[in-house]
Amino acid sequence: MKVGIVGAGMVGSTAGYALALLGIASEIVLVDLNTTLAIAQAEDIAHAVPFGSASVIRAGGYADLAGAGVVILAAGVGQKPGETRLQLLGRNTEVFRKIVGEVLTSAPDTILLVAANPVDVMTYVATRLSGLPPHRVIGSGTILDTARFRSLLAGHLGVSPQAVHAYVLGEHGDSEVLAWSNVHVGAITLLDFAEQMGRPITGDLRAEMDANIRNAAYRIIAGKGSTYYGIGAGLARLIRAIANDQRDVFSVSVLTPAIAGVDTVVGSIPRVIGARGVIADILPDLDEAEYAALNRSVAMLKDLCDQVGL
Ligand code: ADP
Repeated sequence: MKVGIVGAGMVGSTAGYALALLGIASEIVLVDLNTTLAIAQAEDIAHAVPFGSASVIRAGGYADLAGAGVVILAAGVGQKPGETRLQLLGRNTEVFRKIVGEVLTSAPDTILLVAANPVDVMTYVATRLSGLPPHRVIGSGTILDTARFRSLLAGHLGVSPQAVHAYVLGEHGDSEVLAWSNVHVGAITLLDFAEQMGRPITGDLRAEMDANIRNAAYRIIAGKGSTYYGIGAGLARLIRAIANDQRDVFSVSVLTPAIAGVDTVVGSIPRVIGARGVIADILPDLDEAEYAALNRSVAMLKDLCDQVGL
């Protein structure tokens, strides 16, 4: 499958690198306002390709996105000192205003994969600006938070992360909700599994994992300025599910008729992903506190989307 990436900065180029090394895309086109950067990133990634796959990667303009099955939207501007989140959102909405129409003119049948932050609101913006049905506009949402949740639980229990089924829901950010009540390991409930392994789940452990996941991005940004390897690999994994019509289940952000009592709202819940994009939304059974927390998280996102005013 041909994949377009608009925004050849850290997130966009790392997604391109992951796609190329894993051989998920036959052709990858990088588009950026900064054409020198896009050309340099494409050339650098092309030098990695012989070690991993046979993907063709090049820089191009919007016309070169023709025929792309997926286009990643990773373009954006950074937060200026003293700038509010809403001001940043306004500037990133302007960036999307410039690019979404251009992408769809060249690739009208594509699926848009939104990776610009704040990802939930930018997914709403891309959905509204594109006029596409929501199942074709997917935000990376909490895929990384969910991956981290699974790997921390797996580490505690001494099993592989693939054996752990758990989701982080709602906003990709401070209000996200770890859905502890429906975690399963294999087909066994978490508490039962942990008990039998002799590695109980204590209140302290839960609080520690919760803080660890919620603060992961802050820790990485404090240490190296920004995060991109995790999201790059996550985006490549989502594209593999689309390219192969795999119908895998991921917690991603999409404009949804209703989540936890809030209608027409973005936020992450588990969704089945295949060639058409989102094939089904799955609303997990939550306990009362989790449901209330998810309601608050998506209500806050809806409020932000309303303030963007599209
Ligand atoms: P991140 O870490 O999120 O990838 P970067 O700043 O590294 O952030 O990358 C964002 C990229 O988006 C930059 O390379 C920038 O040139 C690009 N960009 C910003 N505005 C536009 C636009 N209107 N069209 C295309 N690319 C853009």
